Amino acid sequence: MMDKYTYKEFKSVLNKIKYPDSWFWARYTLNTYSGCAHACIYCDARSQRYYVEDFENEVIIKTNFDKKLDQRLKRARTLLPDVIAPGGVNDAYQPIEKKIEHTRKVLEVIAKHKFPINIATKSDLITRDIDILEKIATDTWCTVGFSISTTNEELAKFLEPYSSRPSKRLEALKRIKKDVPQIQVGTYFIPIIPFLEDDDKNLEDVFKKTKQAGADFILYGQGLTLRDEQATYFIKKLKNSRYQYVVKPLLNLYKGQMYPPGEYLQEMHLKLFDLSQKYNLPIRVKRWIPKDYRKWNYKISEILLNKEFLDVIKTGISNNTMKWAGLKLNNLKESILNIYRNGKIYQLDGFYKNEIEIIEPYLGKIDKKTALDKFL
Ligand code: SF4
Repeated sequence: MMDKYTYKEFKSVLNKIKYPDSWFWARYTLNTYSGCAHACIYCDARSQRYYVEDFENEVIIKTNFDKKLDQRLKRARTLLPDVIAPGGVNDAYQPIEKKIEHTRKVLEVIAKHKFPINIATKSDLITRDIDILEKIATDTWCTVGFSISTTNEELAKFLEPYSSRPSKRLEALKRIKKDVPQIQVGTYFIPIIPFLEDDDKNLEDVFKKTKQAGADFILYGQGLTLRDEQATYFIKKLKNSRYQYVVKPLLNLYKGQMYPPGEYLQEMHLKLFDLSQKYNLPIRVKRWIPKDYRKWNYKISEILLNKEFLDVIKTGISNNTMKWAGLKLNNLKESILNIYRNGKIYQLDGFYKNEIEIIEPYLGKIDKKTALDKFL
């Protein structure tokens, strides 16, 4: 297990995402740590694109993080409250967190400034902070997702050696939902590893147990990525394990590409979609909607981006116009509804005509509340 911990102060504490998407609906990300002692053998943070130095052997604890975040949120006049997603290329609840309560202090700052959060983890340690999560959920919005891609504990131990066992994650999910129903909880069924986790039994088990635990959603996506250093590390680990028999079929499936072929993904998506119907589990997270001028911008964006995602799942084809209309709505500086009511919708800066044509019908329906709400 990783045992090198370094303390270091970083200049910036909050990253702004240009276009919040329908996975986390996050506008900001933050990383309380650099590196992750969960050491999942498929972790994409090992790939060159993330530049996490010495990911395998060292975790950096970012000092003064809570104070700097406090100043940042206090100072910023242009920083409207919006969803913060802690974690990303590390787990905010990795083992050291138990001792130093670093993420907890950061959550306290987020709660103080009334920003909503969406947090993903592989650890049941998050239940320690249920009091703060409850405060955030009551004041604004809080979503907690557990990454679970197998219910086989032995396989999970091999793939994710230092995170909580899947059964513990499911127990944590259940407890959060039971204790604080207003927290949105669910499973990130990501990444599903071909030949290890894509069999019908495992797919059904993950859905079934997610549902039994009381989840509000289950998310799944494009499957395992195989990218430069991360791919090399993962394949090496597989070769030296009792799962070495999957190396050949896996490499045959990927054929040197980063993602599995479209036909494989399409077949998986349809299977998973059928399971989501069977277990009545939404495959998107319900979005946080601000009460200010962004309200309808965000609502219509949610409808469009969810619709586009569903099209990809069902047909394998993305409607790019719909996608961009949804993404751009997140960044408007005034209410789309007002613009529409003032008859200026076709003069909107930065939007193409075919994007406006997709948005306009929803605006027409807003006064008939039920018609729009059925999409939400
Ligand atoms: S918990 Fe997430 S960030 Fe940490 S090693 Fe696993 S996949 Fe990577």
